Amino acid sequence: MNTQTIFISDLHLSADVPQLNALFFQSLQDWRGKIDALYILGDFFDVWVGDDDDGPFIQSIKAALADFAQATPVFVQHGNRDFLLGEKFAAESGIRLLPEQFVAELYGKPYLLVHGDELCSDDVAYQQFRAQSRNPMWQAAVLMKPLAERRMLAGQIRMMSETKKNAEGKSEISDATEAGVQALLGKYAGQNIEVLIHGHTHRPAVHTHAIDGRTLTRYVLQDWEGETGGYLSVHADGRIETALLYA
Ligand code: MN
Repeated sequence: MNTQTIFISDLHLSADVPQLNALFFQSLQDWRGKIDALYILGDFFDVWVGDDDDGPFIQSIKAALADFAQATPVFVQHGNRDFLLGEKFAAESGIRLLPEQFVAELYGKPYLLVHGDELCSDDVAYQQFRAQSRNPMWQAAVLMKPLAERRMLAGQIRMMSETKKNAEGKSEISDATEAGVQALLGKYAGQNIEVLIHGHTHRPAVHTHAIDGRTLTRYVLQDWEGETGGYLSVHADGRIETALLYA
């Protein structure tokens, strides 16, 4: 009988980060069959150009997930880098894709899960791109391009986003805002949501918000970078713990 559920996000895995890949494989081995479920809240991959991209790195991830999922269910949300993850990947990996907002009922309590990019409401240009890139018609048009062309496009998107990060550092514009949190929670009024879990901002922390006279606790997940990863664990008794992982 397991008594905890684990949440991770922003691993940004790719063929270029063998240490983080190894840390992920090791974590799967440690958690397999010993936890109730694994939730990956977006940006699992540094970039995703379509389920037909099947290099050896992606094959190895799919195989590891498929084995893990035989013992422990895995749920995956899209991030702003891997929003093209599709049902073919899900089927081959034995995972289940979740909608961009999802309420998980765990041990009798509701937990609201999002990637977190929608909370960064001050970044108007990004929110415009987000609306476009989550549009099924736009996605279908992109996926019709040849794989080689999509790989080039991904390289450009990645380069642009890295350049932006370096130029602006961790500016306020890419953090979650009070307005963003309130707008999201407004959609869940009356559902007794006390906990929101998300990643994306790479600013792991615990925040509290007053929503309709009640207190919401917002957990920001640890991103994985260099030799360090991390996770959040929800226990059956309602306790929430975070921990770092080292490659
Ligand atoms: Mn992200």
